[in-house]
Amino acid sequence: MIVKTTISSLWLAPAPDAEERLAAIFDTAPGGTEIFFRADDVAVPGDNCREMMKLFRKHQVPLHMAVTPAWLTKSRWTTLSKWSGNDDLFCWHQHGWRHVNHQKTGKKGEFGTDRTKAAKKADIAKGRAKLEAIMNDDFHPFFTPPWNRFDIETGEALTELGFKAVSRSDGEMKKVPLPGKLPDIFINVDLHTRTETNPVEGWNALLGEFEAAIKTGRIGVMLHHQRMNGAAFKFLDTCLLVATNRSDLQKVCFKSL
Ligand SMILES: [Zn+2]
Repeated sequence: MIVKTTISSLWLAPAPDAEERLAAIFDTAPGGTEIFFRADDVAVPGDNCREMMKLFRKHQVPLHMAVTPAWLTKSRWTTLSKWSGNDDLFCWHQHGWRHVNHQKTGKKGEFGTDRTKAAKKADIAKGRAKLEAIMNDDFHPFFTPPWNRFDIETGEALTELGFKAVSRSDGEMKKVPLPGKLPDIFINVDLHTRTETNPVEGWNALLGEFEAAIKTGRIGVMLHHQRMNGAAFKFLDTCLLVATNRSDLQKVCFKSL
């Protein structure tokens, strides 16, 4: 498995006023604004994964864990399951199958147009069967695609396989509509895979995403724990504190869909 561990520029040059600015942005959120958090590329129980889970338990905020099936083993699950405690805060669900790119050109995708529907459906079914066999009742039938995107046939396959919702990124619904009533609980804030080389630009863009998300009525925050450093953990801690201090924000959990 290949997981990028590059730290985005903003986490290498933390803005001293970032936490204040974030709190001011949350103050503008109308009551009833929804918020949820989703962690991608989960399966291997390393130190960063444990720290991330600890923070969500400390603040008692739900976290949606997108697990790559090919990377999970029984012993890895035993550890993750132990770390999750008895709080029922973690919504374990499927993140592709092997997290590999099958597109010959253009943007990366495990479930894009360069494979047959049968091949894509078989991979999703294989991944789900593996997660169910290892996690039993802790598995929930939601699908987060690697790179936040898939093609129209994948949407059909997910419906046929009985998935209850998907989670992509903001804007995908316009590009690839979903069949039937399959909802997309999309993310619109990217904490750790930011590409701005200038940290000031990175901070402005990140905080701008929180502002724009609030205007839509739902903040969906994506995490990549392998790419977190101390500054990123500190900011996440503040973010969870600010969110929990606002009791009129709705902490969304896919499980209640
Ligand atoms: Zn991923």
